[in-house]
Amino acid sequence: MSANEADKAARKERLLEKDRNYVWHHMSPHNDNPLIIESGKGSWVTDIDGNRYLDGMAGLWCVNVGHGRSEIAEAAAGQMMKLAYTTLVQSHIPAIELAAKLNEWLGGDYRIFFSNSGSDANEVAFKIARQYHHQNGKPTKHKFISRHRAYHGSSMGALAATGQAQRKLKYEPLGAGFVHVPPPYCYRCPFGQTEGACQLQCAQAVEDAIVWEGPDSVAGMILEPAITGGGVLVPPDGYLPKVRSICSKYDVLLIVDEVICGFGRSGEKFGHQNFGVKPDIVTMAKGLTSAYSPLSATAVSAELYASFKEKQTESHFRHINTFGGNPVSCAVALKSIEILETENLVSRSAQMGRAITSGLEPLKAHPHVGDIRAFGSAIGIELVEDRASKVPATAERVAAIIAGCRQKGLLIGKNGDTVPGYANILTLSPPLSSTDEDIAFLIRTLNEVFALHV
Ligand code: PLP
Repeated sequence: MSANEADKAARKERLLEKDRNYVWHHMSPHNDNPLIIESGKGSWVTDIDGNRYLDGMAGLWCVNVGHGRSEIAEAAAGQMMKLAYTTLVQSHIPAIELAAKLNEWLGGDYRIFFSNSGSDANEVAFKIARQYHHQNGKPTKHKFISRHRAYHGSSMGALAATGQAQRKLKYEPLGAGFVHVPPPYCYRCPFGQTEGACQLQCAQAVEDAIVWEGPDSVAGMILEPAITGGGVLVPPDGYLPKVRSICSKYDVLLIVDEVICGFGRSGEKFGHQNFGVKPDIVTMAKGLTSAYSPLSATAVSAELYASFKEKQTESHFRHINTFGGNPVSCAVALKSIEILETENLVSRSAQMGRAITSGLEPLKAHPHVGDIRAFGSAIGIELVEDRASKVPATAERVAAIIAGCRQKGLLIGKNGDTVPGYANILTLSPPLSSTDEDIAFLIRTLNEVFALHV
């Protein structure tokens, strides 16, 4: 071993020891040998041994413009030198410009409340919805409808909205008043229907839940345009418009969680724009800054906002968080959005999604691939033990494919904890800036790894 190699090995051992002693990893059992990522450029990241990996999940569905963008670093540094912090009790220029830009992306007319994370953005949406109904003469409206398999965040309200039992089990009681309905999941339709030949019973389930709970008790419905982390479940075209009209019928606010689907991932600026619906509230995070800095936003329709403006009745929203709308994060978001625009990454996302699904076409004959789904460039590959019975693939089989990809330099994900036996969906969401060569590598690697696991 050369002196240089010995130095590197010693450094790695020192880092691993500190990691073992001090770092609590997210969502995973203690791991004595974690991948330590040191740098990133474009769609690739490099670990401390110098191994390169294609970041097939864009981190966690978030590094939309890719790694190592010097223009974002410069925007952050410039803003830090000018003004690192002030509260949004008053105002500052990056927040003003960003709120206006988000309105442009949403097609107006929304007021933007800034927070730190996707969970925060959803908590804000729930509080605003409840307060709105209070101030609009319907104070008993407090419940929220959401879907099984959906993920909406880790805080007590957002976790209550989440429809994944394993994530909640040891933390209850959570926020009260959350009711779950089956999602649109055409590969395993919860209503035993066939895609294209059904009556959208999944949307009807929303109306049934509102009626059963009592419309006077239901404040809102929260949904992602397509359930992403819960397995990339893309709804039939008519689902969202039908849910929109059901919500309007019962004065139930439609809250669309765009934390993953927003900022181009779906092939449109926001996921709901694929279905021509107008939400009452839109929440966003992740791709908002391409994860270069923490920031989230809750966009609230002008109509709702109007009820928070009455100075005489103390109707303002009593909510603050210190870092929400941090000027540096807002400057980063503005630069990231500028890159999405100038490099046409929204349409690139749609085209990339089509390229990946067509490149993975051979996998449709693989004995353990049940279904391949795409929402723009959010891709899900559902693994089964047997294609006829659709029995979900074992955890070992899923882990072997993920490890096989990692060995060949490709990082991919899987759907999070759901009911046991259902964490069987591989997920992909490469940076929207990925080159044709990157995408060819991703497709080639997946095909090679699956060929080894028949
Ligand atoms: N909503 C969705 C759809 C998400 O996927 C996530 C996180 O993955 C969240 C909300 C919560 O975001 P955060 O982790 O920033 O709190």
